[in-house]
Amino acid sequence: MNYLKQQDPKLWAAVVGELQRQLDRLAMIASENYTSGAVMQACGTLLTNKYAEGYPGKRYYGGCEFVDVAEDLAIQRAKELFGAEHANVQPHSGAQANMAVYLAALKPGDPVLGMSLTHGGHLTHGMHLNLSGILYDFHNYGVRCEDQRIDFDEVASLARKHKPKLIVAGASAYPREIPHGRFAEIAEEVGAKLLVDMAHYGGLVAAGVHDDPLPVADYVTATTHKTLRGPRGGIILCKAKYRKDVDRAVFPGTQGGPLMHVIAGKAVCFREALEPDYKKYAQQVIDNAKVLADVFLSGGLRLITGGTDNHLILADATSIGLTGMSATAALESCGVTINKNVIPFDTRKPVDPSGIRFGTPALTTRGMGCDEMRSIGTWIIEALKSPDDEALLQRIRGQVSELCGQFPIPVNGVDIVPIQGALQ
Ligand SMILES: *Cc1c(COP(=O)(O)O)cnc(C)c1O
Repeated sequence: MNYLKQQDPKLWAAVVGELQRQLDRLAMIASENYTSGAVMQACGTLLTNKYAEGYPGKRYYGGCEFVDVAEDLAIQRAKELFGAEHANVQPHSGAQANMAVYLAALKPGDPVLGMSLTHGGHLTHGMHLNLSGILYDFHNYGVRCEDQRIDFDEVASLARKHKPKLIVAGASAYPREIPHGRFAEIAEEVGAKLLVDMAHYGGLVAAGVHDDPLPVADYVTATTHKTLRGPRGGIILCKAKYRKDVDRAVFPGTQGGPLMHVIAGKAVCFREALEPDYKKYAQQVIDNAKVLADVFLSGGLRLITGGTDNHLILADATSIGLTGMSATAALESCGVTINKNVIPFDTRKPVDPSGIRFGTPALTTRGMGCDEMRSIGTWIIEALKSPDDEALLQRIRGQVSELCGQFPIPVNGVDIVPIQGALQ
């Protein structure tokens, strides 16, 4: 990064600080991952210079013959990876992908059914401050109180009552496999279309280790940067009959020029996800989460739904005498980065909720397996049980650093390993 260092030392220092943070702490935020060096290189290319409004072969600007190759590769690989009839790889983010599907499938004011944000849904599933909640008449389903699993009786009764034009399945903080077929049955009964937002678990679907929504959903959206391990961005997959409406809803409906360097990164990401190694990776993500969940349960931490089937764990920090905020702070001081999260039927406010969310995608990319999960889980329980014991937190901080030193992160094509003692 010599140009950046010379021309903009302040910004360069921030990037180096972030490099050190990523190297020397355990990234356990469920929505984060490390992209490969090849993905980062693609995103850092001069493709960022090109305007390419439109689609391959049908652009509104000249000189698109090379970016057309990049976008065609991304489209073909996405279709192959997911077995989709059509893929739009232009959405700038998962939120943009969802807004485009809403534009394609709905008119303002139409009734829609989505998962409640407080039960694990996403902002773009009708939260009142989000454009989705402002433009459309969203109604929310949630999970059952007894087992915190999706309440399909409620989904069905709300669907019969509100006659939604669209049902949205998918979540950001739901630790179980989502049975998409059950949503599809209800959608069919009431004449609704089905959008599956697999932003979090798209990588698990790609690897064949999670129920596949493609056969039953009208539209599927995903982010490319979570379990899929690509650059930040979104995609939309759909049947051929929705192709025109979806493409028009992305451009010109909700976006202008596509980010061609990011689309190039998506093409690399999909190619990587087609490799046999990626299937092993995705299975290890789940195995790691299960081991971690077992350690947490033996440590006395209450887990929402009692465990996990996927890449994430949602825990009730109050079961161990803390809040989401105090637990997050205690773990950060040990070099373990997570996020606070509301839990279903939370009695606390979102600024300091009861829950904490953990994920294994990033640690698994570093090469950590079940043994490492056992150590990390034990440290986490120790820290949560004695959050005021500075000596203990310092000891764990050292152990985290030492572990990080054994597992590199990929940066611009080079696997970088932290130098012991050089990073604080
Ligand atoms: C992360 C997420 C999104 C949004 O992705 P962004 O790229 O942050 O806009 C949408 N839906 C769900 C369920 C998510 O978890």
